[in-house]
Amino acid sequence: MPLKMRAVPCLSDNYAYLIHDPESGRTAVIDVPEVAPVQAALAEAGWSLTDILITHHHDDHIQGVDDLRAATGAKVWGAAADAHRLPALDHALNEGDTVTLGSERGSVIDVSGHTVGHIAFLFPDSRLAFTADSLMALGCGRLFEGTPDQMWASLTKLMALPDDTLICSGHDYSKGNAAFALSVDPDNPDLTARIAQMDADRDAGKPMAVVTLGVEKATNPFLRAGQDYLKERHGMQGAEDRKVFAHLRGLKDTF
Ligand code: ZN
Ligand code: FE
Repeated sequence: MPLKMRAVPCLSDNYAYLIHDPESGRTAVIDVPEVAPVQAALAEAGWSLTDILITHHHDDHIQGVDDLRAATGAKVWGAAADAHRLPALDHALNEGDTVTLGSERGSVIDVSGHTVGHIAFLFPDSRLAFTADSLMALGCGRLFEGTPDQMWASLTKLMALPDDTLICSGHDYSKGNAAFALSVDPDNPDLTARIAQMDADRDAGKPMAVVTLGVEKATNPFLRAGQDYLKERHGMQGAEDRKVFAHLRGLKDTF
């Protein structure tokens, strides 16, 4: 039975996510930007928290972890590489490690770039990937610690997942990301169609940070660095994909 997932808006533009295994009753939260909205979502769903999964060390993703652990007794999972700057970990993870939630098995993918030590959680049977500030809806995280090559390698791993994988990212930056995407890839009909739909989706209360990988691959300019027409538009015919990605990421930094 697939996991049930709920997106929980937190702070001004963050998202936490709840996943629940109906068979075992186990429930995990991915990142804890703040405690109250997560507790409210748990109460509304009637789920009790058993696990806390951390993607990376930034405050807006971990600042509620210790309080939520104290309130629930949940076990905390996070990157071994970042153990020195994360709340105390019950399970220290490396790439390829398994996170079990009842009968569901998740796997850990290193998606360094935004930070070094950033991990994503993939639950393949439920087609869910929690990517936080690596691959984001219509964008990708700013490179605070890693290099463009690292982020490109991370995005390449995520692009290999099935197209119907639901990408659940850490923030709703949809407005700014849409404006940037349009500026670098204006003639992409899939992109203009997606943007045309976004206001209605936002008004309908859809979590804007959640989108399928297939849609991302068709519209997210950072995932299109390998497209010949985009290389040409940016005067980079024949350039390596990673160089085109670095160029686009640089443009976004000053957009
Ligand atoms: Zn971050
Ligand atoms: Fe963040």
